[in-house]
Amino acid sequence: MHNNGLIERYRKFLPVSESTSIITLHEGSTPLIPAYKLGAAIHKKLEIWLKYEGLNPTGSFKDRGMTMAITKAVEEGYKAVMCASTGNTSASAAAYAARAGLRCAVLIPEGKIALGKLSQAMIHGATVVQIKGNFDEALALVRQICEEHPIALVNSINPYRIEGQKTGAFEIIDDFDGIAPDFQAMPVGNAGNITAYWKGYREYREAGKAENRPRMLGFQAAGAAPIVLGHPIDSPQTFATAIRIGNPASWKTADLAREESGGVIGMVTDHQIRDAYRLLAATEGVFCEPASAASIAGVIKLAEAGYFEKMKPFKGNFLRLVCILTGHGLKDPDSAIAAAEKPVTVEPKEEAILEVLGLLETAMA
Ligand SMILES: *Cc1c(COP(=O)(O)O)cnc(C)c1O
Repeated sequence: MHNNGLIERYRKFLPVSESTSIITLHEGSTPLIPAYKLGAAIHKKLEIWLKYEGLNPTGSFKDRGMTMAITKAVEEGYKAVMCASTGNTSASAAAYAARAGLRCAVLIPEGKIALGKLSQAMIHGATVVQIKGNFDEALALVRQICEEHPIALVNSINPYRIEGQKTGAFEIIDDFDGIAPDFQAMPVGNAGNITAYWKGYREYREAGKAENRPRMLGFQAAGAAPIVLGHPIDSPQTFATAIRIGNPASWKTADLAREESGGVIGMVTDHQIRDAYRLLAATEGVFCEPASAASIAGVIKLAEAGYFEKMKPFKGNFLRLVCILTGHGLKDPDSAIAAAEKPVTVEPKEEAILEVLGLLETAMA
C-alpha cells in the first residue's frame, strides 16, 4: 500500500472534510520492529516491540501532529504559525510550514537543543529565536503572542496536534490485527503524546477496532519529573533535551491516561537513560534519541522492581509491550558520541589495525 500520509489513512477518525486540502510529507505508517533479544534480556515474560517514530519525514513523531495542525491552519486562513520547542516541534513545524507556504517562527531555549533539530528549523526557513530561558517560559510567551496576533499556535496544546498523534495508536492496533499491546511505554515531556496515544486507544476500542486497551507507562527524566513529584520544576535538567520540561501543558490528561489505563508514570535517571540508549543501539541495531530511550530505561526499572511478575497477557504467553521511540538518533549525534566508545587512531599498518581488533598473534614461541 502506498503511504499517502496519515490523514488519508485515518480520515474517518480525523477532523477533515472532502474539501480540506491536506498538507502532508507522507508521515506515519512507521515500522513496528520486534526486539525479542532486548525483551528477553529485560524480563522472561516480556515481548518488546519498537514503534520507530524516528522514521517520520523530519525524524520524530511530531510530524503526526504537524500534518494536522498545518492542514487546519491553512484551512482556517492563517498565514503564519509559531511554536515553542525543545527541538523536534520546531523542525517539524518548519518543514510543514515550508510545504504549505506559511511563515514559521520558533522559540527555543538557548543552547539546549540538539544540533540536528536546530539545523532542520534553520534550513526550512523558519525564523529561529533563542531565548535565555527554558521551554516552559518559551511556551508561555508563544501563547501570549498567538493570542495577540493572527498566528496559529502549533504546540501540542493545539487540539489538532493531538488528533494527528493519536494515529500512532491506530497503527499499532492495525499491525497487531485488532489487539492492543498489554503495555505501551513512552517518554513524557509536555505530555501531549501520552494524551494523544491514550485518546487513540480509547477511540479505536469504542469504534470496535480493538478488543482491548494497553496500560500506559510514561517516563520522565529524574531532573525533569514534575508529574512524578507532584509539582512543577522551575529549572528542569536532563541530557534528554526533548523531555526537559518542568510544567507540562497536558499534565492532567497524562494523569488521566495513567489512571484510566491502570498504568504508571515513573522517572529514570540520566544514567539509566544513557545505559538504555546504548543498549538498544548495540543489541537491536535501532538508534533513537536520548529522550526516546527513557521508555526502555523505564521498562528496565519496572522489571527490576518486579512490576511484571503478577501481570497477565491479554492473549498468549508473553506480555506484549510497545516502546514508542519518539525521535531518530541522528537528531543528536553529540549525545551518541559522548555515550559511546571513542574511535582509535593508529598508523596505516595492518599490524596496528590487527592489534586494535585483538587479532594480533602473540608470536612469542
Ligand atoms: C516532543 C518529544 C517528546 C515528548 O513528547 P511530549 O508530547 O512533549 O510528552 C519525547 N521524545 C521526543 C524525541 C520528542 O521530540
